[in-house]
Amino acid sequence: MTIPADFPYGLVVFIFGLLIGSFLNVVIYRVPLGESIVLPASHCPHCNTPIKAYDNIPVLGYLWLGGKCRNCKVRISPIYPLVELLVGILFLLCYWKVSKQFSSFDQGSLKYWLAIVANVIFVALIVPLIFIDLRYKLLPDVITKPGLVLMLAWRAIAPEPIVLQMTRQTFHLMRWPDWAIALLGAAIGAVVGGGSLWLVREAYFRLKKIEGMGLGDIKMMFFVGAFLGWQLTVLTIFIASLLGSIVGITLIVTRGGNTKMEIPFGVFLGPAALLALFVGQSFINWYLGMFI
Ligand SMILES: [Zn+2]
Repeated sequence: MTIPADFPYGLVVFIFGLLIGSFLNVVIYRVPLGESIVLPASHCPHCNTPIKAYDNIPVLGYLWLGGKCRNCKVRISPIYPLVELLVGILFLLCYWKVSKQFSSFDQGSLKYWLAIVANVIFVALIVPLIFIDLRYKLLPDVITKPGLVLMLAWRAIAPEPIVLQMTRQTFHLMRWPDWAIALLGAAIGAVVGGGSLWLVREAYFRLKKIEGMGLGDIKMMFFVGAFLGWQLTVLTIFIASLLGSIVGITLIVTRGGNTKMEIPFGVFLGPAALLALFVGQSFINWYLGMFI
């Protein structure tokens, strides 16, 4: 077995992902409670003892503590190391995805690293939303609203090549600079993402007179749409609806017909957006290829 030439970079990106995952655990735990994400330093939620720096090392800290607080021995949720590992792996996937889009000549250029950073920020917005929605049925404005501004800005800086090309051709904007077209493409994606869920919400409200979908889901899909572009956004909503239906039907069958059970939609939108980010384009190409 040979070690690939980019292994050191991949390792650095992975370790960086673990560290950001550790920070996102703090976001997941504190943002819904309205607490500061900076101070105080990490402490055991049970006995309040500050966590020592060497016990706070992502994944490893959990392993050598045997999943228990060093002081009071209360069990630490395995969700913490899992989030760290998940973010590490997702960051590595971002690195691979962008590396495939750039020729070996352009790898290492400023554009290349900006594209990796853009993808990594998107992941760092999505992961806490999934876990916060799962636990609190809530998609906090402090993440979704700045998310839209961030994603529009990052798309102008680091456009997705396919969205850029598609937007330029659709609107015949041959003379516009890349950043302006990328921004337009992102805005269309945002409107498709947030707008389509808003329409579903309105239709549901008129028909059933109850709110079937939270505003948080709509705000989330605005920034998801801005980042992914309209094609992958449509795919995201499709995958999320499919996942939601499968889980919903399974729960109804296994737990006996209680259709009042609510599962927050963000729990499905988040993983669907990540799937669309990493394999969505290959899927669309394969799907369209079947008709040619
Ligand atoms: Zn403790």
